[in-house]
Amino acid sequence: MTASKTKFQQRLNRALGSKRLATALDRALTTLGDRRDAAMAQLDWPSLRHDLAERRGAAVEHMPELIERFTREAEAVGTRVYRAPDAAEALRVVAGLCRAKGAKLVVKSKSMATEEIHLNQHLEGEGVRVVETDLGEWIIQLARDRPSHLIAPAIHKTREEVAELFSKETGRKIPPDNAELVKVARERLREAFLNADIGITGGNALIAETGTLMLVTNEGNADLATSLPAVHIAIVGIDKLVPTMEDAVAMLKLLPRSGTGQKITSYVQFITGPSRSADIEQTLTIGVHGPKEMHVVLLDNGRTAMREDPAFRDALRCIRCGACSTVCPSYRVVGGHVFGHVYTGPIGLVLSPWHHGIDSVAYEQNMCLGCNACDTVCPVEIPLAALINDVRAKAVERIGMSTAKRVALGMWSTREGLDRLFSWAHLLQGPFARNGVVRPPFLGELVAEKSLPRVADRPLHYRAREIADANPPAAKMRIAFFPSCLIDRLLPDAGYAAARVLQSLGAEVHLTYADSCCGLPQLNSGDRVHAIAMAQRAIERLEGVDADWITSPSASCAITISDDYLRILDAPWRARAQRVSRHIKPFTRLADELQRASGARGRRLGLRVTYHDACQSQNVLGIHDEPRRLLREVAGVEVSEMAESAVCCGFGGTFSFDYPEVATRILDRKLANAQATAADLIVADNPGCLTHIRGGLDARGKRTRVAHLAEVLWESLRPESVAGT
Ligand code: SF4
Ligand code: SF4
Repeated sequence: MTASKTKFQQRLNRALGSKRLATALDRALTTLGDRRDAAMAQLDWPSLRHDLAERRGAAVEHMPELIERFTREAEAVGTRVYRAPDAAEALRVVAGLCRAKGAKLVVKSKSMATEEIHLNQHLEGEGVRVVETDLGEWIIQLARDRPSHLIAPAIHKTREEVAELFSKETGRKIPPDNAELVKVARERLREAFLNADIGITGGNALIAETGTLMLVTNEGNADLATSLPAVHIAIVGIDKLVPTMEDAVAMLKLLPRSGTGQKITSYVQFITGPSRSADIEQTLTIGVHGPKEMHVVLLDNGRTAMREDPAFRDALRCIRCGACSTVCPSYRVVGGHVFGHVYTGPIGLVLSPWHHGIDSVAYEQNMCLGCNACDTVCPVEIPLAALINDVRAKAVERIGMSTAKRVALGMWSTREGLDRLFSWAHLLQGPFARNGVVRPPFLGELVAEKSLPRVADRPLHYRAREIADANPPAAKMRIAFFPSCLIDRLLPDAGYAAARVLQSLGAEVHLTYADSCCGLPQLNSGDRVHAIAMAQRAIERLEGVDADWITSPSASCAITISDDYLRILDAPWRARAQRVSRHIKPFTRLADELQRASGARGRRLGLRVTYHDACQSQNVLGIHDEPRRLLREVAGVEVSEMAESAVCCGFGGTFSFDYPEVATRILDRKLANAQATAADLIVADNPGCLTHIRGGLDARGKRTRVAHLAEVLWESLRPESVAGT
C-alpha cells in the first residue's frame, strides 16, 4: 500500500465530525476502562504482570523450538499443521482446503489474524460465502466496515446504529435494545452454523507441550464454529506459541481482566486434535460430535523479522487484550479507523509496519501524543510509547515532514537558532501579550482554542548568577539545574521558583546547560538526526558537571535525558548516557526527598488547588503522592482531586499544533474535570502541560489560575519580607 495523507485526513475529519462515534467511544471505553481498573485492583497486578511478561518473553525467545514442538505434538493427535511465511501462503492453504472440501459456506469466529491476511475477501473471491459469527464482527460484516478495536470490533457503533443495520438486514424494525439485537443475531446465525462446511477461528494460544489450541471467548460462537462443521481451520500467528499449559493459564489470569474486566470469559476452549471416540470396543474413531478434521495454519507474516529486531521483538509478547486502546486519550477521540490499520490502537501502530509495511501507518502514527498511558496498562510490559516513537522515526524517514516544521525543528536544535526563534516571537507578540499568554489575531485557527505562552522578556539563564548567589552557606548537596528550553524562555519564574525551593530545602543549585534544549521536540517529531546530535551535545555538557544530582523542573526533559537517550544512541554514546542518567532526578522527586529530610514547612497559603499529573511524571516515573504531599505539608493547601488527573491534557509537544482539533477535545475534558473541583489553581510539574492548560483556559475566558508546583512551594517557603514582590 502507499501512504496517503489525503485519505488519512479524510478519515480524521470524518471521525472528528461524527457525534455518533464520540457517543459510542465514550460509552464503551469508559465502561471497559472502569471494569479493567476494578478487576486489576483485586489482584497483585505488578507481580502477575511481570510473571506474564517473563513467560511471554521466554516464548518469543524460544519461538523456533516451540514451532517444532507444537507441530510434532499436534500432528501426533491428528491435527494437520501448515507453516505460512506470509499472508499469500496462508490464503493459499485455506482456499485449497475449502476447494478440497467443496466448501460453499464458512462460519468464522473472531480472529485478528484472518483480518490481517484479508481472508474473507479472498474466500469470497473464490466463491465461498463467509459468515462472521461473533456479534461485533457480524455487525462489521453487515456494515461492510472493518474492526476498530482488538476485542470490541464494533466499538465505534452505537446501539442505535446497530439497530438500523439489523432492521435493514431483517426487513423489520428492530429497536435499539441490546436484548432484542442479540436475539436477531442468534436467530440469523444459527442457520449458518448448522449449514457451514468449515469453521474458521484464530487462537489465543498454541500450547506446544500438548499441541493444543486455546480459545478465549464470551458468546459461545467459537464453540459452535469449532464443533458443528466437519472441518475446523485455525489461523494463528506464531507469536501465540507458549511452551506449557501453565503459561496458557498465566495468560488466562490477565487476558480477560485486562480486556473486559472479567475474571474469566464465559468460554475457554482447549482443543487438542479433531473430535474422537473409543467408546465402541476401545477402537479410536475420529469425528463424533465435533469436526473430523482439524488444521492449524502457523502464520509468520513478518513475525520472524520482528523477533530479530532487538526493540520490536518485545511487541511479540502482546496478548491482544486491547487495554492499550482503551486508555489512549487520542484513540478515545478519533477511534480505531484513524488510529492504526488492520490492528488498531497503540499496539496496532507498532505491529502494522511488520505485517503491512510502514506506509500502512505512516500518518496514523501521528495520532500518538507520547503520553505513555498505554505502557502503564499493558499486561506484558511492552514499551509501546517508545516503539511508536521508533515507528514515527521510520515514517518520517519515508514520508518526510512539512518544510515549516523541518525548518523550525532545525533552528530549535541549536542555541543560536533558539535565540533567533524566541527573539522573533518576542518581537511579534508585542502588543498582544498579557498575563503570560499571547493571542495575536493574525494566527487565526492556531489560537482559536488555545492562547500561546508569552515569551519572557528575560530568560532564566540570565539569572544564573543571582541564583548561585542565593545558595545556602552549608548546603547538604550540590545540584546541577537544567531548566529546559520551555522553562527558560517561557516560564522563567517557574524555573526560578524551583531553584529557590531546592535552596530553601538545603541544596546548592547551579544552572547548567541553561540556554539549550534536550532534543525532546525533535525526538517526539521523529527527527532522529537532530535528536541524536542534541543528545550527544547534552551528554558532553552534563557529564562534566560537578553535582550530586542533575535535576529539571520539566519532568519530560528529565526523562528524555535519563531514558530516551539510552534508546536512541549507539554503543559508545549509550554508555556515556547511562552514566549521566544515574544522576538525573526530576524536581518533584528531589524536592520531596529534601523536604522529608529537612521537615521544612512554609506559610499556609489558604488555597484550594487541583493537581494535574503530567503524563511523564505519573506514567513513567510513577510520581503521584509526592506533589500532593508537598502541597499539603509545605504550603498547607487543600488538594481537591480532579477526575482522570493522570490523563493527558492534550499537549504532546508539536501534536497540539499539528492536530489542534484532537488536542482540543482532550483539553476540553481535562478543563471540565479540573473546573468541576472548583479549585482556585491548577498545579502541575511540567511546562508543556502548564502552557497548554493555561492557554486553553485563557481562550475560553476562564479565570482559574495555573502554576508550576515549584511556584506554589516557593510562594509558601520564601521569606515573608519578600512575599508578594
Ligand atoms: S503514548 Fe499515549 S497517545 Fe500514544 S499510543 Fe500510548 S496512550 Fe495513546
Ligand atoms: S500491547 Fe499490551 S495492552 Fe495492548 S493489546 Fe497487546 S497486551 Fe494488550
